[in-house]
Amino acid sequence: MKQLFFFLVLLVLPSAILLGLIYSACRALYLMCEDRRELKQLDAIAAESAARREQRRRENDNRLENGCPHSFDSGLGFPPGVCPKCGLAKERPAGECDHIWRRSESPTPTSVCALCGKTYRPEL
Ligand SMILES: [Zn+2]
Ligand SMILES: [Zn+2]
Repeated sequence: MKQLFFFLVLLVLPSAILLGLIYSACRALYLMCEDRRELKQLDAIAAESAARREQRRRENDNRLENGCPHSFDSGLGFPPGVCPKCGLAKERPAGECDHIWRRSESPTPTSVCALCGKTYRPEL
């Protein structure tokens, strides 16, 4: 009887330890895979936003190709970052209208968008 008990302890103990080891190994492996998947997802998101940025930059380059030798050092009465020669802003403005600024006839230096009629009045 005593021998059987010993035998059982000898059998159960190592297998319990083995099971525990296997369990923790599987868990570690699973967590590693999970981590890698998350990293891959993050990579994909980063690549996607880089591509979108690149596309925006290209679109912006195209819209500035109108044959005008732009000078974006803002003329009198124009919003900052706008080419006084053709009226385009260096970066496409947020919103519906890609404003094309024209100097308006007024005693104070003011400019008006030829497309939407928005007025820009520099603060003096
Ligand atoms: Zn220009
Ligand atoms: Zn406009």
